[in-house]
Amino acid sequence: MARHHITIAMRPLRLIERLWYWRLGIPAPLASGPSPAKREAWIRLLPQSWTRIHHRYAERHGYYWLPCILCTRPYGGHQYAGSIPDPVYGPGSGRSVGICPHCTRRGRHVELDHDDLPIY
Ligand SMILES: [Zn+2]
Repeated sequence: MARHHITIAMRPLRLIERLWYWRLGIPAPLASGPSPAKREAWIRLLPQSWTRIHHRYAERHGYYWLPCILCTRPYGGHQYAGSIPDPVYGPGSGRSVGICPHCTRRGRHVELDHDDLPIY
């Protein structure tokens, strides 16, 4: 499994980013990291079901193209929406994995068994 490290510098959201969160149906944060390139901003607003376009975009611009950990729908790194605690390390570990926009809109997450929770 590939792991990515991200450094974020916070700034106020722009209109296209507020539209992205509105489309996801989740509250927009007060600030965000570096703005995506203009070409990336519009493609994120296309429906996730337009798989062929998103797949081609991810390949051309070096983004990952992987199945969502929750629903197995493929999505690209440019569509990164929400995240859930890493099921391997559990909640409170500070580690998370990305989920697709579809699962983010529906508020999906992983229910861990009591035995899966880390012991501190
Ligand atoms: Zn999903």
